[in-house]
Amino acid sequence: MVIAIDGPGGVGKSTVTQRVAAARGLDYLDTGATYRAAALAVMRAGVDPSDGAAVLEAVAAASIEYWNGSIFLDGRDVSSEVRTPEITAASSAVAGIPEVRDVVVAMQRQWVQSRGGMAVVEGRDIGTVVFPDAAVKVFLTARPEIRAARRAADQAAGHSEDVKVVREALDERDRADSTREASPLRAADDAYTVDTSDLSLDEVVEAVLLLVDAARRRPEML
Ligand code: C5P
Repeated sequence: MVIAIDGPGGVGKSTVTQRVAAARGLDYLDTGATYRAAALAVMRAGVDPSDGAAVLEAVAAASIEYWNGSIFLDGRDVSSEVRTPEITAASSAVAGIPEVRDVVVAMQRQWVQSRGGMAVVEGRDIGTVVFPDAAVKVFLTARPEIRAARRAADQAAGHSEDVKVVREALDERDRADSTREASPLRAADDAYTVDTSDLSLDEVVEAVLLLVDAARRRPEML
């Protein structure tokens, strides 16, 4: 069964996804990391990001692999490298190109299929486009100021930025991700939306696990 966890940046998707996967012994896939690796491939190829055909060529030529929570580009672990503000912005631009999404989504589906269709998958369009038949669909939200504060705290150890700068970058990315034509960020009609603003991490994980366990008890899962 696929457990889809979607939502905007800074909402806590990655942590929730990892905790849910660990609690039920499942692998997890961070699809944002696959778009970030695609963006890094484009930057390394020195391609003009507005040249759709050249961007697609660079992404199609790249080897992108996700393994044990790490993302690899052409065989090298680039997990830290893809977290810079530059790659974050570029990933959103690259992810707006429909042909690039086709290539990356095929890879995501293949990754889940090779695990017998059992995984927790986090992203923006997992419940709507990548796995519309997912057994559990969760859409996490939180007020923008809370997301900015969480993201800034995440980054404190690495690429430190103040909350205001983080908030501006998040707002801009939300706008781009929600208004683009190709697979915009939105909750699937049959997703459970959880506003995490005033919940602890444990409470969010608990809520998702309740949904997962309820889905497991459905007759078609037995
Ligand atoms: O989740 P993360 O912040 O790592 O995602 C980076 C970018 O990748 C997002 O801003 C979004 O544009 C894109 N993305 C996407 N679809 C997904 C996951 C991420 O378009 N399923």
